Amino acid sequence: MSEQIKVKSDTSPNSSNPVKIQPAKTKSDGAGNARNRIYVRAVKGIYQSVRQRMGLVCMLSFLILPWLQYQGQQAILFDLANQQFRIFAVTFWPQDLLLLAFIFIIAAFALVLVTTFIGRVWCGYMCPQTVWTFIFIWFEEKIEGTRHQRMKLDQQPMTGKKAFKKIAKHACWIGFSLFTSLTFIGYFVEIGHLFIDFFTFSAGWLVSFWVLFFTVCTYGNAGWMREIMCTHICPYARLQSAMFDKDTYTVAYNPARGENRGPRSRKADPKTLGLGDCIDCNLCVQVCPTGIDIRNGLQYECINCGACIDACDGVMDKMGYQRGLISYTTERQLSGGFTRLFRTKLFAYSIILVVLIALFTTTLLSRTPFDLDIIRDRNQLFRENFSGEIENTYTLKVLNQSQTTVTYHLSLSELASEYKWIGEKSITVSAGQVESIPVTLAVDPSLLSDTRNDFYFVITMKSGQDKPVTLYEESRFFKGR
Ligand code: SF4
Ligand code: SF4
Repeated sequence: MSEQIKVKSDTSPNSSNPVKIQPAKTKSDGAGNARNRIYVRAVKGIYQSVRQRMGLVCMLSFLILPWLQYQGQQAILFDLANQQFRIFAVTFWPQDLLLLAFIFIIAAFALVLVTTFIGRVWCGYMCPQTVWTFIFIWFEEKIEGTRHQRMKLDQQPMTGKKAFKKIAKHACWIGFSLFTSLTFIGYFVEIGHLFIDFFTFSAGWLVSFWVLFFTVCTYGNAGWMREIMCTHICPYARLQSAMFDKDTYTVAYNPARGENRGPRSRKADPKTLGLGDCIDCNLCVQVCPTGIDIRNGLQYECINCGACIDACDGVMDKMGYQRGLISYTTERQLSGGFTRLFRTKLFAYSIILVVLIALFTTTLLSRTPFDLDIIRDRNQLFRENFSGEIENTYTLKVLNQSQTTVTYHLSLSELASEYKWIGEKSITVSAGQVESIPVTLAVDPSLLSDTRNDFYFVITMKSGQDKPVTLYEESRFFKGR
């Protein structure tokens, strides 16, 4: 098994950090926020453009998906009120809880696998907290200016211009929060009606409450809390040291190449000055959304966003040094070894994940759009009728899990060559409903070999030109005790 690596916390009193983290500070930003604020500096580079594109894809998917229509209905709707999750042609019912559990387990394992392989890339590139935070930072930068201008603005006394900028920024944040909150709730109630009802004040109090609740949460998380969510609240950050090992790719600074750090002229030869490649410009700290200094080693606050890599590569280019002083690398590689891509832990996680996906797919594919429950008559196991036949009585409960009204046909298999069916042989059930019919089977006892006879109730669904779907449910016929 691979050895795990330690993840440092900058807040640790025993931290051996050679460099103090000094995010720009304000005593208060005028709105009661007395914590040390991080003024994130914008940076351009490969990883930032990948992150922005992935963020854009995630955000557009989130905004567009609830508006898609399928057969005249909202294609994706998690209708909690009616206990049905509709995803295009498939509707999931409370009976499908197993599938939902599968999805969560698969997602958890996929996260563990990816984290073991390439660290917290989920956090840096696709986590909603990061995507929303960067969008909020974008609004901030467009309205209040660059990092330096924002710091200066916050230190200034309140003026009309400052008030205007602050109001504009918060209005954009709140407007965007409201819009995304409405979209989010639109996954649970019909989105077209939701927007109209909300803005005409005719949405119910419960729906309005949740829209406002998520608006406040989004505004608070992405506008005010930001890195606090990643560094103090999110449990995933705390678990990462259990998943990381010496071969996990993560953002790291190469101290062997960078130290001793220090400023120097572009023309100077660092070797003659006794310096490494780090010019101690602090840019990697200024661009960090969680305000850490990656030169202090792997820290649990790092979300692997790669902003410090882009910043440092820019500096290296200007200095004429080789890129990669900060890079996605592994601890083994940094200590001069070769990264082991194929290791027991990764292999075991991959196998488990493949098995889980196979089980999920099989369960999903073998799922019928209806279900049959058989309840035997509890008062009388069997009885003999006037013709000398043995009768058993059942209640058949048919659940229609499709989105349309369907007529089902019922029959038997493997009971006896001859039998009497007393009751309806077809049943019509509305979408999402359960209907019951009582059925009595009468069989000549000489045709039954055993006291207890296993057989199947057969239910067939035929709709339009589609191939009939048939389900066999096992039951038992008693001719004696
Ligand atoms: S950006 Fe690079 S050169 Fe500048 S302080 Fe960070 S590691 Fe050193
Ligand atoms: S240290 Fe680098 S990769 Fe980690 S969060 Fe900060 S900027 Fe992103």
